[in-house]
Amino acid sequence: MPDAEIIAIGSELLGTEKLDTNSLFLTARLNDLGVEVAQKCVIGDSRERLTNEIKAGLQRSQLILLTGGLGPTEDDITRDAVAAALGKTLIFSQEICDWLEERFKKFNRKMAEINRRQAYVIDGAEVLPNDRGTAPGQWFQVPSTGAVVMLLPGPPHEMKAMYTAQIHPRLEAMLPKQVIRTLFYRVAGMGESDLDALISPVYKKYENPVTTILAGAGDIQVHLRARCDTPEEADRLLAKVGPPIEELLGDRIYSRDGATLEETTGRILRDHGATVAVAESATAGMFAARLTSVSGSSSYFKGGFLTYTDQMKTDLLGVPAELISEHTAVSEAVAISMAVNARTRASATYGISITGEAGPESATGQPVGLFFVGVADSNGCEARRFQFPGDRTRLRQFATQWAIELLRRRALGL
Ligand code: AMP
Ligand code: MG
Repeated sequence: MPDAEIIAIGSELLGTEKLDTNSLFLTARLNDLGVEVAQKCVIGDSRERLTNEIKAGLQRSQLILLTGGLGPTEDDITRDAVAAALGKTLIFSQEICDWLEERFKKFNRKMAEINRRQAYVIDGAEVLPNDRGTAPGQWFQVPSTGAVVMLLPGPPHEMKAMYTAQIHPRLEAMLPKQVIRTLFYRVAGMGESDLDALISPVYKKYENPVTTILAGAGDIQVHLRARCDTPEEADRLLAKVGPPIEELLGDRIYSRDGATLEETTGRILRDHGATVAVAESATAGMFAARLTSVSGSSSYFKGGFLTYTDQMKTDLLGVPAELISEHTAVSEAVAISMAVNARTRASATYGISITGEAGPESATGQPVGLFFVGVADSNGCEARRFQFPGDRTRLRQFATQWAIELLRRRALGL
């Protein structure tokens, strides 16, 4: 399989406001074809830098995909730079020019003189029509090496439409056929290094499938990707790695189909005809927001108590003031009282509570990162103590994630 590289062109992509997202889309689609992206880069609107990069790219990669810089203005340098790198001239296409004029007429506008720049085609390139914008793409195959340089527009909706309709089928026809089969696990309730220590003895033995691990706060994704000539072969390889990993991770795997923790948990609650209410202090609604991001959540999520201050914990939830003064708001006793009262006041199957020190300064004298998550049901209530790492944002994410995970575990009887 040939390697690919992607060059995103545009000075705005080098600033602090705008990210190159086009390469993520292209990478995903190329991976679908079994092509790996070996490198990518972002280059500002500099003809010289881009020309040099394409020249170097032609020495190392068979597929070079460029996005951006195909507009009509002086800073749109992609056509010029590619032509220079290939040692080709740009040829004016009357056909593209007519099409552009027609397009402007359709929108009751007159084409500006500078738009003629978009009618230049690299000598020997195929033109890729753009039905969503004014910049046509181009496909140039170097006769001596077979390497292909592809020019795509920058605006993501134009780029995606052109890639899908015109580049992907061409690549598919050109590349050797391979199939990719994947397995995908999502895991909660475990740190990244613990997870890796547990499963790396299994996956390290294999290069195919490729295993990747992505970690967020208390949320880990494990991807296995097998690439083979036949689906049977790919499934056979996956069967060597997937089941042992599943066995090791056990019920810490909460989804195999990409579903989020809140979706999975919601499904379990709905299947059991159970409901939940929450009392949140330090996360101030993050748990409620995540649970209700799932459509249909009204069938199991009853509501919540957003009790940020001690006073509100007492007034709204009925947490005894003495309990708070004795233990502080960040304590097992208060977490239990919050969860139990949330459950009873909302007449829910489960009551969840989250209280903690999100920092950066401690409000209760308890250490920053200390959290308690309470889970109450008809059998009583337990609160679990956590000391999370990270800044305020991450601490609150950890706490929310763990609260949903503890709800999932309780609802499954784990
Ligand atoms: P251009 O084709 O260079 O004139 O780009 C037009 C617009 O498309 C830019 O202003 C960006 O908003 C967007 N754009 C260009 N390149 C990318 C990229 N790699 N990822 C996401 N957006 C892009
Ligand atoms: Mg640009």
